[in-house]
Amino acid sequence: MTVYGWIDRIRNLGGTIFADLRDRSGVLQLVIEPTMTGAKSLSMQDCIRAKGEVRERPEKQKNPKIDTGDVELRVEEFTVLNKSRTPPFVVESDVKASEELRLRYRYLDLRRAPMQRNLIFRHNVITAMREYLNKHDFMEIETPVLTRSMPEGARDYLVPSRLYPEKFYALAQSPQMYKQLLMVAGFERYYQIARCMRDEDPRHDRQPEHTQIDIEMSFVEEDDVFGIAEGMFEHIFKSVMEQVLTTPFPRMTYAKAMERYGTDKPDLRFGMEIIDLGDTFKEKEFAPFRGKQYIRGLIVEEGSALSRKKLDAIDERAKKAGLTGIFWTRVDESCTGSMGKLIDRKIIDALSLRKGNLLIVAAGGAEVFRFLGQLRIDLAEELNLAESGFRFLWVTDFPIFELDEKTGRIVASHHIFTQPQEGDIQYLDSHPLRVHGRLYDLVCNGNELASGSIRNHDRRLQEKLFAIAGMDPAKYTMLLDALHYGAPPHGGIAPGIDRIVMILAGVKSLRDVIAFPKTTTAQGLLEGIPDTVSPEQLKDLHIKYD
Ligand code: ASP
Repeated sequence: MTVYGWIDRIRNLGGTIFADLRDRSGVLQLVIEPTMTGAKSLSMQDCIRAKGEVRERPEKQKNPKIDTGDVELRVEEFTVLNKSRTPPFVVESDVKASEELRLRYRYLDLRRAPMQRNLIFRHNVITAMREYLNKHDFMEIETPVLTRSMPEGARDYLVPSRLYPEKFYALAQSPQMYKQLLMVAGFERYYQIARCMRDEDPRHDRQPEHTQIDIEMSFVEEDDVFGIAEGMFEHIFKSVMEQVLTTPFPRMTYAKAMERYGTDKPDLRFGMEIIDLGDTFKEKEFAPFRGKQYIRGLIVEEGSALSRKKLDAIDERAKKAGLTGIFWTRVDESCTGSMGKLIDRKIIDALSLRKGNLLIVAAGGAEVFRFLGQLRIDLAEELNLAESGFRFLWVTDFPIFELDEKTGRIVASHHIFTQPQEGDIQYLDSHPLRVHGRLYDLVCNGNELASGSIRNHDRRLQEKLFAIAGMDPAKYTMLLDALHYGAPPHGGIAPGIDRIVMILAGVKSLRDVIAFPKTTTAQGLLEGIPDTVSPEQLKDLHIKYD
């Protein structure tokens, strides 16, 4: 048998050299006589070819931890195809190197078994997506990456034109406009593994470019889009993970999600919902609650074990969030804590409080929900409350518009290519913030996996939405014009592949499921980008710096 690969580990035991040969399918132990020419100078990461006989390992040397642990290759001849320099870090599963070094030498980092596993898993997920969509009559169609600047909620990456001075292309933020045009063109069911470029401020889980499986369908309602997405995930679970996924996924409106979980992406792997305590404390004379719009709380099951220091830290956080602080009580024979005295038998019964519970209460305006929502997540993490597995949820009925906190202006909350809910169209002129859209997100374990909507095929309605959001319709002429020509009702969704793979593979960082990612500060350490370019290149592009 002849095998090709890289030397993962090598041990010279005097009489015999044992080397682990690695390729993308795993490792195989090679047994090499030290007397063979070149054997002693073999070293880690050398790329070699070896020929020999596969035989069973002696009983004591069997390794049940690896697939090939029962066998080894007794090498009869080998060739070093290419020697490796000593790598800048040891290429091993449990890598000790900093992420910076790993990214700088990404091709070595990608040799590590976990990275190979992640990228193989990613490939399998994408294959399953394609299989499912092809089977359901979707067509894969590519759309331009170089397009016009049509902000879709983020800043564009701009590309200066050489042929047309002072003019620019923009890198597509998503194929949104084109996929809608493909519906106008009559393709009915489209998908694409699409790269989306968005020049947003760095955040730990954000990349300047991400990949999504972009989907659009004609003649559909929400149920049709949900059915396709659910079927696609079911297929991924079955074919890649050999798991049965229960569908349909539950649904919850945005308003309910905010009220019960303080976030538009609730993690349903644990309970601890936000509870309304307005009525509970109505008869109590407790100054901090007087005149407050919302009095809401969390009952933390085993929370009375939380230290005073921890509670003080939570109180500090509440103050930073614009609240007066938190009020809490540990439930025991008698209730203790900053609101212990308020808790009588009636309240204990009404809230079904049990010994060992901790009740945390916050009072104030809308910030109460965001604060408790985040606290709920942090406490669940600290107390390890999340059950294992994947809990999917559709969040629906988002408002189409929101107020931009910085400018005070009305802007599109998700994206503007969304049909308003029929019953809300009447408020478009008078109370645009009250208008809900046919918008939906798919959430899993507290992460947004996909986002989509039923679009406007009525030109006048689309123009009106642009006007309300203060967007210049001239930038979107290609879509608006197309809506004149019998555009069909249509809608779609775009699940984010990087995030899906990260969550399903159970890894912590997006960068571990992307072959060549950027850093959290949008740099490419391997490529050394962003970088300057030559004066000639700038001149070609008509760019001058002062
Ligand atoms: N274009 C949207 C996005 O990239 C997804 C969609 O509505 O289909 O977020």
